[in-house]
Amino acid sequence: EIRSEVILTSSSSTPIASRRIIKRNSVPPDYGRIVWITDPDAGFQAARIVDLSKSGFTLTLLHSNETVNRKYEEVFSSEEDPNKSVEDNCALMHLNEATLLNNCRLRYKQKKIYSYVANILISINPYQTIDGFYSSQKIKEYRGKSLGQKEPHIYAIADKSFREMRRHRKSQSIIVSGESGAGKTESQKAILRYLCENWGADAGPIQQRLLETNPILEAFGNAKTLRNNNSSRFGKFVQIHFADNGNVAGGHVSHYLLETSRICRQTSGERNYHIFYQLIAGSSPELYKYLALGQPHCFNYLSKGFLGFFTHSVNSQTNILKSRWSDSRFSEDSMVDDYLDFQRLENALKLTGLNEKELMFIWSTVAGILHLGNIEFEENHGDSRGGCKVSQRSEGYVDQAARLLGLETIELRMGLCARIMQTTKGGARGTLIRVPLKSYEAIAGRDALSKSIYSKLFDWLVSRINRSIPFEESTHFIGVLDVAGFEYYAVNSFEQFCINFCNEKLQNFFNERILKEEQELYEKEALNVRRIEFMDNKDCIDLFEMKGKGLFDLLDEEARLPTPSYKNFTKRAHEENRKHFRLDTPRKSKVKTHREMRDDEGLLIRHYAGSVCYETKQFVEKNDDQLHNSLQILIEQSASPLLVSLFPSATSSRPSGNKLKSQSVGSKFKSQLTILLEKLQSTGTHFVRCIKPNNQMDAWNFDGAAILSQLQCAGMTSVLKLMQDGFPSRTSFGDLYSSYQRKLPPKLARLDPRLFAKCLFRALGLDPPDFQFGVTKVFFRAGKFAEFDSGSSF
Ligand code: ATP
Ligand code: MG
Repeated sequence: EIRSEVILTSSSSTPIASRRIIKRNSVPPDYGRIVWITDPDAGFQAARIVDLSKSGFTLTLLHSNETVNRKYEEVFSSEEDPNKSVEDNCALMHLNEATLLNNCRLRYKQKKIYSYVANILISINPYQTIDGFYSSQKIKEYRGKSLGQKEPHIYAIADKSFREMRRHRKSQSIIVSGESGAGKTESQKAILRYLCENWGADAGPIQQRLLETNPILEAFGNAKTLRNNNSSRFGKFVQIHFADNGNVAGGHVSHYLLETSRICRQTSGERNYHIFYQLIAGSSPELYKYLALGQPHCFNYLSKGFLGFFTHSVNSQTNILKSRWSDSRFSEDSMVDDYLDFQRLENALKLTGLNEKELMFIWSTVAGILHLGNIEFEENHGDSRGGCKVSQRSEGYVDQAARLLGLETIELRMGLCARIMQTTKGGARGTLIRVPLKSYEAIAGRDALSKSIYSKLFDWLVSRINRSIPFEESTHFIGVLDVAGFEYYAVNSFEQFCINFCNEKLQNFFNERILKEEQELYEKEALNVRRIEFMDNKDCIDLFEMKGKGLFDLLDEEARLPTPSYKNFTKRAHEENRKHFRLDTPRKSKVKTHREMRDDEGLLIRHYAGSVCYETKQFVEKNDDQLHNSLQILIEQSASPLLVSLFPSATSSRPSGNKLKSQSVGSKFKSQLTILLEKLQSTGTHFVRCIKPNNQMDAWNFDGAAILSQLQCAGMTSVLKLMQDGFPSRTSFGDLYSSYQRKLPPKLARLDPRLFAKCLFRALGLDPPDFQFGVTKVFFRAGKFAEFDSGSSF
């Protein structure tokens, strides 16, 4: 028998894929035994032990008979029958990352995408619609059923959260995580559908509105990326509120950190937000003409990545579509159908209660941004101060943008080419002066304006949606969180910096909930369960958010300097956190794909999931989403009251000539996350870990190494260890007793609850290894509580 002790390695300067659990074997293994050994492609492969030495094992591979050597930490116990799959991974005899991966593989090959690790759901994207898998019939099947009574399913988690909300009279949250394309948003949609459909005969008006929020948010906040054709470029927390009787009473959507860089340019092969293409493909001929639209390649903001729409044949509309559609390469791709999606979007907006005026405002603003993007500048040779002017070719776009945004053409032209500054004299405000801009400054201003308008439009849409859904005093809510998972690319910038900070916080919450609390409880209840170590990431969170020398504060401080520079910020970040274990210079990176950077150009951060090198070049700019004074004044003069309302006036507090001093992107995100985590802390929590099976978006193709690395990033390996030794289901003696009390004969009903539980278990013939008695509660091995849970009612 292999006995092992597990420690998470802290040498996180190694890439994620090579982070391993170190396994120290204290007892020699059986020769001839079959085990799992690490494999760079499959994750693990089966081998037979033939010898043992000081440094490790000698084994023969099962599939090729080849002899190989492996260190101890690269060898994992295998199940007696490695071809038998289980629904709950906790039912495995040997619970380790190899058996977990193998079980996921076996199930995925049988077209089963879900499995549990105790109460955590693992979901592997099938990349294919499975017939009836999310139907109303399925919803019925899972209603009121405990985890484990039926096949693992996202509906079982939704049902569990509902039952626990009612039983414990406490709000619940479901945290869905995973990398881009792993299936988070699809999971969130399934959960919402379950919660909204289950308790009304048909979806009532509130439920319908809640469900209609999705097409709206996706049109404006999702885009085709290289990783996902419908990638959410913002995070969201959707709350469904329930009344005392269990009916849906309202809802609320909170959103986080919309990616704005995409509005002006996209990586090759990626698209801008869906709405731009939907509007071009789906608008009526009159609207199309009014908005002065054209094919995507006519617009700078749409032609930087990928030109075509996605569409499949829509018979009656084919002619219109043909004339608006330039790229036949993508005609077969029906993943995103811009034409139909536009009709869906329009319906959803109407259902949400938006009137014609508001719809027109949205279309005009979106089209206005497209025209803005086409405004180009050239040097103004007539200007002795070296300024620029709008190029002759793009005069027409200035007219269109001004018309659609309710501005005067002349004001827009001037606002883009010059900046109004106010001089100061001894602290007093002086005269206003016009400072002409160079072309590149004008372009930056134009893009800042577009990004600002778009992101404020998005904020407005979310608040408009929230206004349309009642938010009465409800008893409790179930919140579903869908935010991007841990990210690392060849080049990582401010976006990854924020996302990974968010993931550190969520990982810390996960650790706290699942591991720390669990262990503390075992200790408090005097259970005989071994202690497990896990890597606490609190120090990494501090590195980001500490007052003064934390990275977010240093970045804000830099912005307040007269001439902020990313190099100065980077230098200070290193100086202030010199001995910090989590921070290093980019030189220390062992990941070859990182672009070479000097010490004052990058930060190497050791995250819980591996090291990431950040290129700080754009950090100062990206942290600042405020419009320059002159552009703010420009928008305030718009004839469109809705547009003006997006930009709250701050005339009184405006300092001389510079920007408004309001919260930076980073500090806003930081405070939003604090609020979110407080909310999560106050709820019962359920976790869904989504896994992307391969990078090609192929259906039913299981890439073992990639999946293993995601399981590790999701913190699953340390959970496994805890579960292997632990008792994840529990109930207090009192609760158990009271759910039976009414049905008991008076003699039995007088028993002390603890004694009663003991008698009950004996009478039911429960196996002693399946449970342990604590001080106030009885604890069950994973999956052994179902008998009791299903019987209880509320
Ligand atoms: P991102 O972080 O980029 O937003 P995500 O995790 O939200 O990614 P989804 O958009 O939910 O990923 O899923 C990507 C695609 O995978 C979906 O558009 C869909 O085609 C497919 N998919 C995901 N989950 C399922 C599922 N349960 N059944 C069928 N297809 C699915
Ligand atoms: Mg998504």
